[in-house]
Amino acid sequence: MTTTQSRLEAIYDLVLHRNAGETEFHQAVREVLDSLGPVIARHPEYADARVIERICEPERQIIFRVPWVDDNGRIEIHRGFRVEFNSALGPYKGGLRFHPSVYLGIVKFLGFEQIFKNALTGLPIGGGKGGSDFDPKGRSDGEVMRFCQSYMTELYRHIGEYTDVPAGDIGVGGREIGYLFGQYKRITNRYESGVLTGKGIGWGGSVVRKEATGYGTVFFVDEMLRQRGEGLDGKRLVVSGSGNVAIYAIEKVEQLGGVVVACSDSSGYVVDEAGIDLELLKQVKEVERGRMSDYVARRPGARLVTDGSIWDVPCEVALPCATQNELSASDALALVKNGCTVVAEGANMPCTPDATNVFSDAGVLFAPGKAANAGGVATSALEMQQNASRDSWTHDHTEARLDEIMRGIHDRCASAAEEYDQPGNYVLGANISGFKLVADAMLAHGVI
Ligand code: NAP
Repeated sequence: MTTTQSRLEAIYDLVLHRNAGETEFHQAVREVLDSLGPVIARHPEYADARVIERICEPERQIIFRVPWVDDNGRIEIHRGFRVEFNSALGPYKGGLRFHPSVYLGIVKFLGFEQIFKNALTGLPIGGGKGGSDFDPKGRSDGEVMRFCQSYMTELYRHIGEYTDVPAGDIGVGGREIGYLFGQYKRITNRYESGVLTGKGIGWGGSVVRKEATGYGTVFFVDEMLRQRGEGLDGKRLVVSGSGNVAIYAIEKVEQLGGVVVACSDSSGYVVDEAGIDLELLKQVKEVERGRMSDYVARRPGARLVTDGSIWDVPCEVALPCATQNELSASDALALVKNGCTVVAEGANMPCTPDATNVFSDAGVLFAPGKAANAGGVATSALEMQQNASRDSWTHDHTEARLDEIMRGIHDRCASAAEEYDQPGNYVLGANISGFKLVADAMLAHGVI
């Protein structure tokens, strides 16, 4: 083992020791450390200043009680989190996730990824993430409102447009952001639009924010394909999930001439050979908050599969857009066997490390989430710009900025991969270029 490798192993051992049981966080750190050997070898100043050790330790972690009263008058108690990971490039920025699986290890994995993702956008935003083990599914609007108000009653003291700017993630969409913003405004007596992003268009939100993560993922894929002299027109795709990211990824694929033949939720997946009917999907998921079975019931020719994997459906391009570790090595092997040549992570860390290795061995073009799904946070930063200048941009202008940012991220990853002699390795390129941007700022700021 070289000196550099043993240094990185020692850092990883320390992360395991200090963050026991936080397996998703360990996985996210491992993936980044695996890319950093060549950078440390060329730039010993990063190791001398212990930049990696500092990046792996959040600047601040907040855990709090969230008590509220449900529709039956019962007192419920949840746990709230906000991890302010790194502010070298700007205020902490990253979403809130409301899902029963949320615990510190999930919030830290997401916050850690967010540091590098935000750096890759080229915009002045640091990394953070938060959430709660509350499940909005099946709750009335009144219950969701009371939960959000209680959550913000503690969170408000830690956030602000120059400090920390949360947004949505799984289980947190426009409705939840509205309740959170209302409570922040009420407590602080300030109309501080820039404190949250993903707001409604009529009260400080940005056009294209809702669509941005899904659209951005597809812009990234389009750019990868362009390098091979191809496009999405006529391609067959599978997209997992049917939430915010999945729906708008499907929309952009359809606009660019591709056909999405399958999507999913946690109850199963739908195969619709004629192409997913987007208007019906939006009606079922965004308006009615229904299940995939509701889609199939109204769509002749579509079928629901409740046992098995969506990745068994043959496709040329796969976009995992649901949740972490949803695509295993055996799923990856099935995709490769069926002719898939491009995979882009719309979700955060949806592919297991073994799955990523399968793609790499098979020469599949693979875009990691921190690059491919950065369009959401990038457009959040555009929302902050509009809030700061008390302006609102047109749809065309905002989408053109998003497109430009995603192609910029693609080029940043591609050139770092080339510079470090691994052309086409977007994982390496994303980790190295994101890391260097953050590390250089940290060196400039001294030991803090
Ligand atoms: P969302 O609107 O809550 O949708 C999540 C979707 O994934 C739902 O359809 C959900 O189904 C499905 N899902 C969850 N677990 C699943 C499983 N095990 N198998 C199949 N489907 C499953 O959340 P989202 O905002 O789209 O976020 C999706 C992913 O993208 C997350 O990893 C998130 O961190 C990442 N991301 C989001 C943004 C953003 O701007 N929203 C930005 C960057 C990255 P159920 O309804 O049945 O649970």
